[in-house]
Amino acid sequence: MKKLLTILLVGAMLLGLAACGGDKGGQQANNGGGTDEEKKETLVMATNAEFPPYEYWENNAIVGIDAEVAAAIADKLGMELRIDDMAFDATLVALQSGQANMVMAGMTVTPERQENVNFSEPYAEGHQVIIVKEDSTIATVEDLAGKKIGVQTNTTGDIYITDDLGDEAVARFNRGADAVMDLKNDKVDAVVIDLEPAKAFVAANEGLKILDTEYATEEYAIAINKNDTELLEKVNTALQELKDDGTLQQIIDTYIPAE
Ligand code: GLN
Repeated sequence: MKKLLTILLVGAMLLGLAACGGDKGGQQANNGGGTDEEKKETLVMATNAEFPPYEYWENNAIVGIDAEVAAAIADKLGMELRIDDMAFDATLVALQSGQANMVMAGMTVTPERQENVNFSEPYAEGHQVIIVKEDSTIATVEDLAGKKIGVQTNTTGDIYITDDLGDEAVARFNRGADAVMDLKNDKVDAVVIDLEPAKAFVAANEGLKILDTEYATEEYAIAINKNDTELLEKVNTALQELKDDGTLQQIIDTYIPAE
């Protein structure tokens, strides 16, 4: 009898503790931090912050759709987000060498990349478009034949143009902005790049336009190391919640106002 009482007592204490922990957890989520902050695990996101409006520098911080979605996911996972900026080319290397937990970089899901990393469910649609000078004779995808096309190294724009027109047609740049600069200076005839950054580059530079015919439609997703299926599951759950409660759309609408 005494033994049973002890078990009951210990059980009640444990339940009480668990309840306390639960309360504290709730509070922490509400005030966005507090005393447990230092215990939080870090979620490292690798990106290339030259890709507005998905990721770019503003007032010494990386902001944009990906940065905000990552912050919302980290929040749901009870983790501290750290964003590491690097060349687009380097993001998947960082992921595979364990220096980053995930890549969010307006990254398109491709079969080749899927051989090396896992992708979350998609969170946005991407479009490869063609930027030319306003007075360009290039009006359609077909007109690109025999021309010099600027792309960002190892992006899908690079992959498609290289596949379709050959290596000699491609001029590769580390930053999309540099490709656009060479277009302005007549060193390339067109730039193939994602639609939203293209809009930002055209808005920031006079005399350029985006062709109506796009090159390809694709899906952006979060890349995660193949070994880290636990994180993949958690990220997908968090992403689904952000889709269901409208947060994801709200973030996208903030950065891509309806026309
Ligand atoms: N969506 C393109 C890709 O995944 C470009 C991404 C980027 O330049 N950040 O290749």
